[in-house]
Amino acid sequence: SMASPALLMRVVASAYSVAEKAATIVRNVMSAGDLGIVEKAGPNDLQTKADRLVQMSICASLARKFPKATIIGEEELPTDNVTEDLIEDGHCEEILKKPCPAQYTGIKEEELVIWVDPLDGTKEYTEGLLDHVTVLIGIAYGGKAIAGVINQPYYNYEAGANAVLGRTIWGVLGVGAFGFQLTEAPAGKHIVITTRSHSSALVNECISALNPDAVIRVGGAGNKIIQLIEGKASAYVFASPGCKKWDTCAPEAILHAVGGKFIAFKITDIRGNPFQYNKEVKHMNSAGVLATLRNYDYYASRIPNTVKESLVP
Ligand code: AMP
Ligand code: MG
Ligand code: MG
Repeated sequence: SMASPALLMRVVASAYSVAEKAATIVRNVMSAGDLGIVEKAGPNDLQTKADRLVQMSICASLARKFPKATIIGEEELPTDNVTEDLIEDGHCEEILKKPCPAQYTGIKEEELVIWVDPLDGTKEYTEGLLDHVTVLIGIAYGGKAIAGVINQPYYNYEAGANAVLGRTIWGVLGVGAFGFQLTEAPAGKHIVITTRSHSSALVNECISALNPDAVIRVGGAGNKIIQLIEGKASAYVFASPGCKKWDTCAPEAILHAVGGKFIAFKITDIRGNPFQYNKEVKHMNSAGVLATLRNYDYYASRIPNTVKESLVP
């Protein structure tokens, strides 16, 4: 008989269904109309009822199935006593059918760190820019992002009533990335994608120094990575602290899972340091984000030293 699927693939398969449940919660809170907005650090750091419910749903659902894994979610809320209606028990069969890469078959549950952003792009969610919103579940092992799920609850929401609303993108290093159409940005053009609601003089100084052909300003780390893999932008550049490990873990895993012979996605901080995702790591990506498909060195080499020195990892 067939051996039971490896732990990593079971975690990803569960995370897929948990992220779909999360997307339903995100849509239901919006259509019910009461967002329950709370300011965290300030007016640009918001939490809604959807952030809270999804945090509890994802963390409690995954903790129930994988009790020894470390789960770190953005919102500080208890996950004991979560009501049953928030628990998702399902999994994606298609993911379980894929073989686990040999280097990951021996992973033990207690070695996994799961980084959860229940709702990425909260500011945009409150402003009705619904396709900027994503749900992020990143899976790390040995300090590296090795698998991730990104759900975009409002994908297609402007495409009319007949379009299927929402999608789930997932990836595992050595397996691939699925649920989207890999597309390259126009050759020879430098299209920078960056923050919409967390700009600063430094963020703009850094972008100017890159001499881009175009700048796209949208919300969400997950959303910006989707735009990179779908060829809308050639570099995600954010010369500021503010982005956290739960913002970058799932996107980084997807970027690296896309990688192949002709594709060389790279993601670092603005100073060129890779991110670490072990459970003890500082949550804040203090030195910002630089992610590209091609020509990483074009962008990295043009970032002024003054910008780099302003960002302390
Ligand atoms: P953005 O590109 O502005 O949507 O930011 C990407 C992610 O980093 C989102 O989860 C933001 O909430 C977070 N983020 C970036 N800058 C800040 C900031 N100054 N304060 C709080 N969160 C931030
Ligand atoms: Mg976020
Ligand atoms: Mg969030």
